[in-house]
This record gives sequence, structure tokens and C-alpha cells, in this order.
Amino acid sequence: MRLSRYFLPVLRDVPKDAEIASHRLMLRAGMVRQQASGLYSWLPLGYKVLMKVQKIIEEEQNRSGAIQLLMPTIQSADLWRESGRYDAYGKEMLRIQDRHERDFLFGPTNEEMITDIFRSYVKSYKDLPLNLYHIQWKFRDEVRPRFGTMRSREFLMKDAYSFDLSKEEAVKAYERMFVAYLRTYARMGLTAIPMRADTGPIGGDLSHEFIVLADTGESAVFCDKRLLDKPIPPQDTDFRGDLSPIFEDWTSHYAATEDMVDMSEFEASVSEENRVSARGIEVGHIFYFGTKYSEPMKATVTGPDGKEITVHMGSYGIGPTRLVPAIIEAFHDDDGIVWPVSVAPFEAVLINLKAGDDACDAACDALYAELNAAGLDMLYDDRDQGAGAKFTTADLIGIPYQIIIGPRGLKAGEAEIKHRKTGERETLPIGEAVARLKGLIEPQRKTDI
Ligand code: ATP
Ligand code: MG
Repeated sequence: MRLSRYFLPVLRDVPKDAEIASHRLMLRAGMVRQQASGLYSWLPLGYKVLMKVQKIIEEEQNRSGAIQLLMPTIQSADLWRESGRYDAYGKEMLRIQDRHERDFLFGPTNEEMITDIFRSYVKSYKDLPLNLYHIQWKFRDEVRPRFGTMRSREFLMKDAYSFDLSKEEAVKAYERMFVAYLRTYARMGLTAIPMRADTGPIGGDLSHEFIVLADTGESAVFCDKRLLDKPIPPQDTDFRGDLSPIFEDWTSHYAATEDMVDMSEFEASVSEENRVSARGIEVGHIFYFGTKYSEPMKATVTGPDGKEITVHMGSYGIGPTRLVPAIIEAFHDDDGIVWPVSVAPFEAVLINLKAGDDACDAACDALYAELNAAGLDMLYDDRDQGAGAKFTTADLIGIPYQIIIGPRGLKAGEAEIKHRKTGERETLPIGEAVARLKGLIEPQRKTDI
């Protein structure tokens, strides 16, 4: 992408009402724009990151056996009356009437709708297990929308729903999602710790929140330090096999949010040097809730003996529009964002120090074509602007590598590569730049961890 033809409205000033680093940086880097309280437009740079986050989520959901579909944002109130949640949900639900004065709502979640889809089509035990998911906008009229897209009113959620014949089978579905989540966050460069959680209005008796530690996080959390560097289940994990050893290994270490923590249990089960008490951001939440929806909504299948069985369900959420700021909270410095390669809006930026100079333009255009051909996701700063402004922008928007070409280096046949994370600079022959960048970037894509 040529920056001269892109839409990147960076702000010079620090927005006053943005309280945390990720919110400030998303506004300054021209990633999002607030349209009203808790409602955001995703501008091109932000949208590109969001799409990379979504793609990782989709790949790991699919790998675990979940199947993607898409349900509408607007739902009929009648469905929610069937489960009893239409009245129970309260003011967080945005209620709407159509021109015929029929009651609708903007979905805050989709348990009822997916249960309706399930009961309409699935009739036999032979069709189970089944896990269906979508990535769709949700609306919750939060009392305090804040921190930008971290806690907004309209936000994206990946929500998956599992259907099984028994609790035992449903726990296996839960374990598959648990492992898929560990892999999902790791591919984004994040350490997200599964913690025992309250089930809240979704209901049920088995639940974990996935928490990224951050000082700006909204919840206090307590866990065993050894969870922070546990190896992630690899790509070739058999999702059709028994995942309970992985699940038990992770959950054998103490980890709980403030709603669930039992301080005496925490202190008894974790030695003092391993105790972490910190703040964290909830980036995912998984639940097993049995027949809470299938029972009132009559989602049943015929079992092997011909008897009707009410299915056991679970639901599994991840917030992509919250993950983007969570990643920034984990990866930034005084100059701006420092994206992990796997979610960076561009993997490298080619900086032409003297746009308009024939030799520089020719060398940069040729190199840009080669970098694209090598499969690198490139931004090309071809604007007619001073070097200082170009470096400031590149640092602010956090592109992992800068490849810099200027008149002096060009005479010597040389380019410079700057590593955004470490500030390290290396000079190399222009002819070696493509291979060098490829070598740096490819292993960090984490497509095969
Ligand atoms: P929280 O406790 O932060 O209010 P929740 O428990 O209401 O979240 P869930 O119903 O578990 O959220 O939703 C699943 C995921 O959706 C959360 O883990 C989070 O990543 C995301 N999410 C929930 N609410 C918001 C919001 N207001 N803005 C952005 N993302 C959200
Ligand atoms: Mg929650």
C-alpha cells in the first residue's frame, strides 16, 4: 500500500479524554473514530488489524472442529421470551420496535437464536457433537462504556455454541474450546491465562475467563506464576482425541478472578514466590450451562434407543474489538505501538527518504514490487515529506520493520533496516534486503506454532 494513496488520519496531539495507552494510541494512529459514546468506526489501519485478529480466531475455531455461520444482529423478542431472558436481561439490552410495533432487540449474545436454529434442523443423536460459531456485532448498553473499544456498547464477538448428548460429552466440547483459545491468544503474541470465573447471567456451572495481565485491566486477578510460561498445545494437537490431560494440567494451577477468588485457598495452594496478584483484561469467556436453554426451548434429539434427549450446551465468547486494544496494552512504548508480526497492520514499511528524487523513487519502486512479490504485507511511505515525520509515523503506527532508502545509502548500494521493537539498525546491500526481511518476518507469523 502506497501511503500517498492510503487513508491514515494520524493525530499529532494526545487526545485528552483517553485514559489508557491503547485508547490514546488507537486514536493517534488513526485506527478508530468515536461516533457516539461506545460506538466506533474502524478506520483502514485499525480494520486491517481487526481482520488479522479475526482470521486467527477463525483458523483456530475451524481447527478445533467448530463450524462458522452468520446470524443477524437484530433478534425477535419472542425468542427471548421463550428462555425467560427478555425480562431478565435488564437495561443492557437495546429494545427496538419495527413499523408493525413488533418487539425486537439488538442481540447482546445469541444463545436463543442458535438454539432455535438447532431445534429446527437437528433431530438425531447421530448429528452430534456440533459446534456452531459466528463473528457478529453485539450491542450492550453498558453503564460505563470506556477505554475506547475495550469496553464499547457495540462490539464484535466471536461466539460459539456447542451441542452434546450428555454432560460428559459437553465437557469434551468445552475442553476443545479451551485448547483452541490457548492457541488463539498465543498466535497473537498474548499470554492469556484461563481463570475460574463466575457464570453470571448466562448461567451454568463450569466457566473460565481468559485474562491478559495488564495494569490497566478492569479486574483484579490471582494466579500461579507458573501459568505464565506454560507451553501452548501445538498445531498438531488431536482435537478428536482426549484433551482432558491438557485441560487438567492447566487448571491444576490456581487462577481466579476477584469474583471467584478464595484468598485462603490461593495462599494454601500457591507458594509465596509463585503468587501473582495483578490486574487483567478479560479477552474471552467460556461456559458450560447444561440444559438451561435447551430445556425451555425444547432442543432435543432422538437418542440411540429412540428416546428424546435434551441437549447439553456450552457457549464460548472472544472479543476481537477488545483484543486489539489488549494487544496494544501489552505491546507499546513511548513512541507508539509495537505490533507483534502476526497481527501487525503491515509487516514492514518501506521508507523513501527523498520522494521526488528520480534515483530514490526508481530504487524504492523496484524494491516495493519485489517485497510484494515475496509475499510481505508492505506499506510504502512514498509521501513528499521530511524524514523525521516519516520515522515518527512509522514508529507510532508500530510496523515491526522499517526498510529505509535515502540518496546517500543508495549511492553505496545500501539500505537500512530498523527493528521497531529493539531500535536495532542494520545496513545491508539493497539486493539482500528482501531475503533478510523475509527471514526476519516469516518465523514470527506464528502460523505454525
Ligand atoms: P465483561 O465482564 O468485561 O463485561 P462479559 O462477561 O459481559 O464481559 P461475555 O458475555 O463473557 O462478556 O462476552 C464474551 C467476550 O466479549 C468477553 O470476554 C469480551 O472479550 C467481549 N466483550 C464483552 N463485553 C464487551 C464490551 N462491552 N466491549 C468489548 N468487548 C466486550
Ligand atoms: Mg465475562
